[in-house]
Amino acid sequence: RAKAEGKNRYSFFSEQLLKNAMDRLQLETDLRQAVEDRALEVFYQPIYALASGEIIGFEALSRWRHPLRGMISPVTFIGIAEETGIIGELTDHVFEQASQAVLEWQEKYREIYPVNVNLSARQISDINLLQDLLEMLHFHKLPRNAIKIEITESLLINNFDGAQSLLQALQQAGITVLLDDFGTGYSSLNYLHQFPINAIKIDRSFVRQSTDSAKAKGLLAGISFIAKQMHLALVAEGVETMEQLRVLREFDVEFAQGYLFGAPMPKADAEKLIVKKVHPVFATLASSQQSVQ
Ligand code: C2E
Ligand code: MG
Ligand code: MG
Ligand code: MG
Repeated sequence: RAKAEGKNRYSFFSEQLLKNAMDRLQLETDLRQAVEDRALEVFYQPIYALASGEIIGFEALSRWRHPLRGMISPVTFIGIAEETGIIGELTDHVFEQASQAVLEWQEKYREIYPVNVNLSARQISDINLLQDLLEMLHFHKLPRNAIKIEITESLLINNFDGAQSLLQALQQAGITVLLDDFGTGYSSLNYLHQFPINAIKIDRSFVRQSTDSAKAKGLLAGISFIAKQMHLALVAEGVETMEQLRVLREFDVEFAQGYLFGAPMPKADAEKLIVKKVHPVFATLASSQQSVQ
């Protein structure tokens, strides 16, 4: 009897495993098709200058609405795109969409609102990446600052030499590089002077903690000081509350993005924020500060 149960259990697990494998395979096939059809969407999250309250640009974030499964998180599909070798094509699509958006906005508003594009670790050794990006910018007659590149620490750790040469090539070409999710990897401080980067994005976990304790606040102040000393621009990620915004301004953090200003959104909505220029939360900030004085 035990044997029979064991067998049942075995077949239960193997069925489950088989189902998972089939699901995964189907998802891979669907993603491949979606990338090929250019069906993935690019959303834009606004980035603001904290001193003036003005919008300065956007981060491009990929969105995949699966016809049957609905929205699938990029954390899931970027991983699949990396493993199946279609991440390069996916990124090209983001480059194309982002360049078109910058161009459209430039024609309408006579100003460049740069878009940051995320690179995945797998793309460190992609020798065509920089060339493709430069050709795209050239094709649209866009300046080198129209598209910026976001990379993560883990990408640097796993391929030190590859990362060095890609980053150097990007710098030489005049493309801005931002270190994403700063503080969540290992020995982050060490990387700041070893790799040629232009800006740091403080991970949202630091932003969240900054209003909890004096120590966490001190950490934020320290990062801000380091960035200034090293002539690195500083962007805070994941700003959700007015209190967080006040702390960031108190420590001279230059730029920020987060749900407080706007979640990643379709291009048409992003454009409305360009028209508005200064985000309404900054008006509340000014008036609340006045009422305190
Ligand atoms: P990331 O580059 O660090 O992007 C920031 C993530 O934080 C985004 O999640 C964004 O929607 C989310 N976020 C923004 N503001 C807030 C906030 O105030 N609170 C909270 N809780 N979250 C906020 P998303 O869009 O789900 O993307 C997750 C990650 O997937 C990204 O992290 C990035 O690493 C990756 N990713 C997204 N699109 C692409 C892409 O086109 N290419 C590559 N290689 N990676 C991408
Ligand atoms: Mg990013
Ligand atoms: Mg990030
Ligand atoms: Mg992240």
